[in-house]
Amino acid sequence: MNTTPIYVPDRRLVRRDFIRYASASALVLPAMSLLTSCGGGESQSSEKKEAADASGGRTLGIALVGLGKYSEGELAPALKETKLCRLAGIVTGTPEKAEKWKKEYNIPDKNIYNYQTFDRIADNPDIDIVYVVLPNALHAEYVIRAAQAGKHVICEKPMATNAADCQKMIDACRKAGKKLSIGYRLHFEPFNREMMRLGQTQEFGKVNRIIAQNGQKQGMDTPWRLGKGLSGGGPLPDVGVYCIQGAIYTKGQVPVSVTAKFHPITDKEKFSEVEEGVDFQMEFPDGTVAACKTSYNDKYNILRAEAASGWFALEPAYQYDGLKGTTSKGEMKLENLNQQARQMDAFADCILNNQETTVPGEMGMRDVQLIEAIYRAAQTGNRVSTKDIIQVLDKTAAEQA
Ligand code: NAD
Repeated sequence: MNTTPIYVPDRRLVRRDFIRYASASALVLPAMSLLTSCGGGESQSSEKKEAADASGGRTLGIALVGLGKYSEGELAPALKETKLCRLAGIVTGTPEKAEKWKKEYNIPDKNIYNYQTFDRIADNPDIDIVYVVLPNALHAEYVIRAAQAGKHVICEKPMATNAADCQKMIDACRKAGKKLSIGYRLHFEPFNREMMRLGQTQEFGKVNRIIAQNGQKQGMDTPWRLGKGLSGGGPLPDVGVYCIQGAIYTKGQVPVSVTAKFHPITDKEKFSEVEEGVDFQMEFPDGTVAACKTSYNDKYNILRAEAASGWFALEPAYQYDGLKGTTSKGEMKLENLNQQARQMDAFADCILNNQETTVPGEMGMRDVQLIEAIYRAAQTGNRVSTKDIIQVLDKTAAEQA
């Protein structure tokens, strides 16, 4: 197993998001004149023009595969705000949805596929990127088919329901010479990027402890989430993955071991196949521990770091909007921006400029390997070593500091 960390470089489009958090006495310093891949603040039209100029006027066509809640509620609206990519096609098994989306987003018939006709997307020059937004267990098949069709791919989190599938997905994209990224929107979100910067640059000294909690009351609206076959697990791969992510990008290290304990099941009918919740601890190479918690039966949304000379925290930390950040020196004065638009534009920018994505398939695989280790730890009660997992980190916020 490769143990050399991959530090994913960043540069690029959209604009720099380090409007520094401010203490009561300090000034907010907006560094807005630079174009980078991380977000914006000025007028949409001037940004659009700058971005279009930088890409030679070209925007990339995205086809969404699976028109469920996330595609409908977040990704399609975000694609109205993107500057380097646009909604060009859809893949759905429901003809009524195809009809509705066709009208709403002005999608030509030739760019509408179902799961049987999907592979013909290979012949469609309007589609540059396939975005897989299906239940977790279906990600592998559609990422591999998309790569074989010669398309770049974005795959939603969790990347797959097991690490072996992640490897197959990475291999398929590599073989096709296509880029693969994971829908890790928070890497493009100013508050979470600030956690990365503060933690990795050790602005408050060495981070000694991290608390990451993400839980929600899961209803019955997407039943596949409660069935192990399609989900691969309960809250851990679904929302707990944000705790894994948050702890790692704040610390800037890959965990060397995990311990875990399942929550007691209070609703036996609902949680007959997947866990109701789990507490887990991830230990980093320098001994720092991240105490994490995830649940489908309780609400929490926190990422907090305690360092040698202060602390910094987000609450809520992982939602699409309304994030708030505080440090021991004061409030983080940052903007909530469209996370999905920034994420998709950053990937389009990587393709247009042949750069590596900061959220590659290898990062998705790292997290699936950690999820597997956490399940093993909870099932056995043992500490599970994660020293052999793939070593990949996003160091970009620290590099931009
Ligand atoms: P959803 O159930 O609302 O949508 C899933 C879509 O897949 C539906 O359109 C459904 O018709 C289609 N589908 C195709 N084959 C299916 C099958 N065999 N069984 C069930 N549905 C099938 O789910 P969602 O909330 O949109 O989640 C989709 C993916 O997006 C998941 O992997 C999830 O983890 C991810 N997601 C990511 C975020 C994020 O913030 N990045 C947020 C929500 C969901």
